[in-house]
Amino acid sequence: MELIIFFIVGLMVGSFLNVVIYRLNLAESIFWGRSHCPHCKAKINWYDNIPLLSFILLQGKCRYCGEKISWQYPIVEFSTGLSFILLAEIFLQNHSWLNWLEVIFYLVLVSLLIVILVYDLKFLKIPLLIIWLAVAWTSAYYLLVDSFNFPVLINFWDSRFLSGLIGGAIASSFFLFLVIISREKWMGMGDVYLGFLIGLVIGWPNILLVLMLSFLLGSVVGLTLVISKRKKMSSQLPFGPFLIISLFLIIFLLKFFPAIDSYLRFYY
Ligand SMILES: [Zn+2]
Repeated sequence: MELIIFFIVGLMVGSFLNVVIYRLNLAESIFWGRSHCPHCKAKINWYDNIPLLSFILLQGKCRYCGEKISWQYPIVEFSTGLSFILLAEIFLQNHSWLNWLEVIFYLVLVSLLIVILVYDLKFLKIPLLIIWLAVAWTSAYYLLVDSFNFPVLINFWDSRFLSGLIGGAIASSFFLFLVIISREKWMGMGDVYLGFLIGLVIGWPNILLVLMLSFLLGSVVGLTLVISKRKKMSSQLPFGPFLIISLFLIIFLLKFFPAIDSYLRFYY
């Protein structure tokens, strides 16, 4: 039952994230003004704005002008719902307020990352406003967790904030290096800031896992697109989505196999 509630909340948040992605690009206000069809400008009624369901009932077309509604809408809604279920399943354990705080931290963080991922795919740009929001959110939560754990912090990497700063510094300087030697051909400055956020979230030394996985995913997908002739060797493939998906995968992996974490820490 609890998981169904998380799924429904996730669908509604996903629907809001679609609005954020759309209005962020137009620099419209995110909170004011009713939703309207981008094609015919007709206001969308609440019954045509139900996540997932309305898309199916309307068969993916605007009620008024018949223009196709982008697949982005149901995909983002469904993925957000699915991420919320997964996060609840993994992080919701004893229902203490500290545990709830952890769950809420991840729900908000993942929502912000979904916005960055879709925005980068769609516009080949990283929305810096969302990056800074996520950096502030993560720093505030990690500082709070550290202050609770303060007396038992033995090693510097037991502090989530310090280990995050080191992870962020390493990832962002690595991307900055790639930006400089490629003159912004392989990576853009947006990836440098995103790298900092990803490193801050996952910390040192786990950032190494995320970087390795993201380059692996990036080359597999890049080569597949080139071989299937969907893309040319020279065409741009945004790197942000690979970083974000790798971060999700490594967070889940570490939660299921905590031994990897201690193994890495032992060797670095
Ligand atoms: Zn329309």
